[in-house]
Amino acid sequence: MFNEELRLEKPLRWGMIGGGRGSQIGYIHRSAALRDGLFTLVAGAFDIDPERCEDFGTHIGLDKARCYPDYKMMLEEEAKRHDGIQVVSIATPNKFHYEMAKAALEAGLHVICEKPLCFTVAEAETLKTIAEKNKLIIGVTYGYTGYQMIHQARKMIENGDLGDIRIINMSFAHGWHSEEVEKNDPGLKWRVTPEQSGPTYVLGDIGTHALYLAEVMMPELKIEQLMCSRQSFIASRAPLEDNAVVLMNFNNGAVGNLWVSAVNAGAIHEQRIRVVGSKASIEWWDEHPNQLVYEVQGKPKQLLDRGHGYLYHDDMAVTCDRIGCGHAEGLFESWANLYQRYAIAIDAMIGGDKETVENTWFPDIHAGLEGVRFIENCVRSADNGSAWVDYK
Ligand code: NAD
Repeated sequence: MFNEELRLEKPLRWGMIGGGRGSQIGYIHRSAALRDGLFTLVAGAFDIDPERCEDFGTHIGLDKARCYPDYKMMLEEEAKRHDGIQVVSIATPNKFHYEMAKAALEAGLHVICEKPLCFTVAEAETLKTIAEKNKLIIGVTYGYTGYQMIHQARKMIENGDLGDIRIINMSFAHGWHSEEVEKNDPGLKWRVTPEQSGPTYVLGDIGTHALYLAEVMMPELKIEQLMCSRQSFIASRAPLEDNAVVLMNFNNGAVGNLWVSAVNAGAIHEQRIRVVGSKASIEWWDEHPNQLVYEVQGKPKQLLDRGHGYLYHDDMAVTCDRIGCGHAEGLFESWANLYQRYAIAIDAMIGGDKETVENTWFPDIHAGLEGVRFIENCVRSADNGSAWVDYK
């Protein structure tokens, strides 16, 4: 069961860049970070518009003097304070992630960054090097991986319940952008603008989420070759894709496919992962995150439910369990589970407790880097006539 009594000597002093009023993802960062008393929000450069930043920041309880017109000023001014921020979350459009994360790490701050972490593997490697040198944590908000059933799936695969893994079938294919809605939606407009979004739209925006589910469930699995076909069904989005199909060969002989789309008309989210083994299969769907379908060949289908005694009791699965079975947990709990682990790792890093840092699972720099590597390989394949490419 979740340990509500887990506390730090003092909550981590936390700042945010982006995630201001009306943003899609700002509130869930705050809700997750503040949930368990491990962070306290003391500063922010929340918005591209300085006035709105101050208005928003003061309305959510911040000191006016610590609502900054831009992130550079925040890093500079906070560094002068004895009670300045120790960690910063970055929830801006993708374009800014790299420069902001790099500046924060260079200022000695731990970083929690939105996905995709940056635009290139080289940039991700640079962030990794600075973080290692300065003994800092980088967390990446792959927010679906705090769900208990994702860790149950990992444990089932590790224990051989499925047999040898053969097929991984993934999708994140919604229909919300089946029309050119970006004309009236700034939150989508930047996503389909290469300078703001990076080399991809849906592959980076949602494809990396689905891929990371597979990475968490099967940490030993590595892509060896990949083939990607991508389309812009709304022509004005070209060269960025609103639909893509990726085929993958893995190191253990397994094969995989990922369908990622924003034009799957009628679909709400359709983030699913089905892992097929030689004995049995499991399937998880983010619209019903508390359940995991377990199908053993020749036996009736089973629906495993969170919070039950029949689940595996490893650390992650147990400590993610915030309320008894039968009650629904959701995305806010999943994110809070991640923020709890970022806090534990950051606190341990500050205290020089290397063992705790190494033994605390969370979506880290490696997760962020692998997401960017996947995007790079997909683009290389797609822009080369959808050729099979060796994964680099
Ligand atoms: P959004 O357009 O809704 O909001 C962006 C926010 O950043 C706004 O408040 C804007 O004013 C602010 N901003 C923009 N430029 C800024 C700057 N230079 N300095 C300070 N603030 C700035 O975007 P969103 O949908 O919230 O996405 C933000 C990031 O979060 C993206 O990288 C996106 O990929 C990611 N995201 C992740 C998830 C997830 O599940 N992890 C879900 C949605 C979005």
